[in-house]
Amino acid sequence: MRLDKVLANMGFGSRTDVKKLMKKGVVQVDGTTVKDGKTQVNPDQQEILINGELVEYKEYIYLMMNKPKGVISATEDHVETTVVDLLEMEDQIFDPFPVGRLDKDTEGLLLITNDGKLSHELLSPKKKVGKKYWAKIDGNVSEEDVQAFANGVELDDGYITKPAELKVLSAGGVSEIELTIMEGKFHQVKRMFLSTGKKVLELKRLQMGRLHLDADLEPGEYRELTDEELSLLG
Ligand code: URA
Repeated sequence: MRLDKVLANMGFGSRTDVKKLMKKGVVQVDGTTVKDGKTQVNPDQQEILINGELVEYKEYIYLMMNKPKGVISATEDHVETTVVDLLEMEDQIFDPFPVGRLDKDTEGLLLITNDGKLSHELLSPKKKVGKKYWAKIDGNVSEEDVQAFANGVELDDGYITKPAELKVLSAGGVSEIELTIMEGKFHQVKRMFLSTGKKVLELKRLQMGRLHLDADLEPGEYRELTDEELSLLG
């Protein structure tokens, strides 16, 4: 790959900025000063230094965020704060985007990446990636609801949901539940409960496939996935 492209990808400015930087003689590849941006390099195998500091090249970034309430699952918006706005600049330069959507008032596990292939695979209905949610429900969630969700319920647009696993953690005037769904229709969890006449008061995603939300992440916090977590998604 061209050295100027590698450096531009790494956030050292546009190709023109990078050209200026290189002219100054501050870029070294394997110990040799390189001033020509067209120089071909292999960022995985060669050592690139800028002002003596090692540039670590990576093409993809994989972030786990505990999405807070009040921000939208988008890359940019004129009015609302987006999940990408919450990222440090050094992560934003990778042009990452959220994998799927959580509603503005939903919290929890959100994967943010610039890996379009992985995103596509996780969202493809064919792959049947399970999404597990915790929710507080206004009303008494019953065994009947558990059965109905296992069989499929009819949403407001006539769509019949695929079998979903509903676990009642506590039932009463306000119930707490965990629900795993294998699909991702718009507002699906809220609409599934509405089909039983109940309203979701709070919603949090706990798991996507085999990837669990890190319980140490406060709402709004994020971190890179470990290699092990990444392999769970493959
Ligand atoms: N289902 C919903 O209703 N909302 C979400 O944010 C996610 C799943």
